[in-house]
Amino acid sequence: APGLNEEYTFTNFVVGDNNRFAANAAIAISKNPGTTYNPCLIYGGVGLGKTHLLQSIGNSVWQEKDNAKIVYVTAEDFTNEFIRSIQENKTHLFKNKYRKADVLLIDDIHFLQKKHETQEELFHTFNALFDAKKQMIFTSDRPVSEIKDITERLQNRFTRGLTVDLQPPQMETAVAILKKKAEKQGVYVANDVINLICQKITTNVRDLEAALTRIIAYAELVNKEVSLEVAQRQLKDFFSSPTQNNITVDVIQRVVADYFNLSANELKGKKRTRQVAFPRQMAMYITREITEASMTDVGLEFGGRDHTTVMHACQRISSRMRTDPTIEDIIQTLIRKIKEEGS
Ligand code: ADP
Ligand code: MG
Repeated sequence: APGLNEEYTFTNFVVGDNNRFAANAAIAISKNPGTTYNPCLIYGGVGLGKTHLLQSIGNSVWQEKDNAKIVYVTAEDFTNEFIRSIQENKTHLFKNKYRKADVLLIDDIHFLQKKHETQEELFHTFNALFDAKKQMIFTSDRPVSEIKDITERLQNRFTRGLTVDLQPPQMETAVAILKKKAEKQGVYVANDVINLICQKITTNVRDLEAALTRIIAYAELVNKEVSLEVAQRQLKDFFSSPTQNNITVDVIQRVVADYFNLSANELKGKKRTRQVAFPRQMAMYITREITEASMTDVGLEFGGRDHTTVMHACQRISSRMRTDPTIEDIIQTLIRKIKEEGS
């Protein structure tokens, strides 16, 4: 549809546990706009597919009914347009545009925070469209209750229909997204490179794609397949994002110990039974992966062990990860938890 990115379709959207509810709601809405789930609010963090889903609804309705009036706008543009219409004495044109929509898609409504006049205008737009049984879909980067400085009655309207959320993708879904993207571009990217990206970037699909784009560009410009080592080097700056900087070894030890029903002291202690040794090796591996700590640093943090012990632990875990996907999953889960706690 005009004004929409044609790449943002349901076909191009990979569905996993993290987004199934939202994706199915979006599909249902596009089949019967204005009937059941009105309005729909999609919320989720940055880069998790809000805009993609929102525009997919628009593109899909457009395909079904080519005379439908589909209006997509970011809350920011909505605000600016509204203000300009006041300055130029053209509010009637503004009202006309939005109140005649069959499907109104407003992206990033958290932007309306503190914009009182725009909130007022949107409130009236909402009521007009709602009464006319026109479909509205909104997105927000947080639950509506957490948007500060927004009138209660507007909050109330946003959540009157169906609210769905988007979570960061699990390893499997992240891998599927990147494989699909590489395939679409007709480029072969080795599985271990894709796994590396998905393992390191866990919170945001946009960053996943950016990392893959870098690898694909490298492969094309240097004209050869990218090895794991090259990928590691090429993606170094992606992997050391500032969000990882307040992760301390304490947090890592606590999360890993918790996960295996141990205490942090046991993890740092002398015991070398399998129940303790394996989690300890995992914790060391993770520390090396997501902090700047050297082998020696890690050894000191784990009960004053030698750096060669740390090195062996890391080698052992990486070789087990290559042969046993469940180990990789556990590591992935742990890193996710650690990042949550550390942010
Ligand atoms: P948001 O609006 O939530 O910040 P976007 O919709 O802009 O996120 O998504 C960021 C990028 O990630 C886009 O290129 C989008 O196509 C892609 N993306 C996100 N989720 C998926 C998914 N489930 N399948 C395929 N691509 C996705
Ligand atoms: Mg967006």
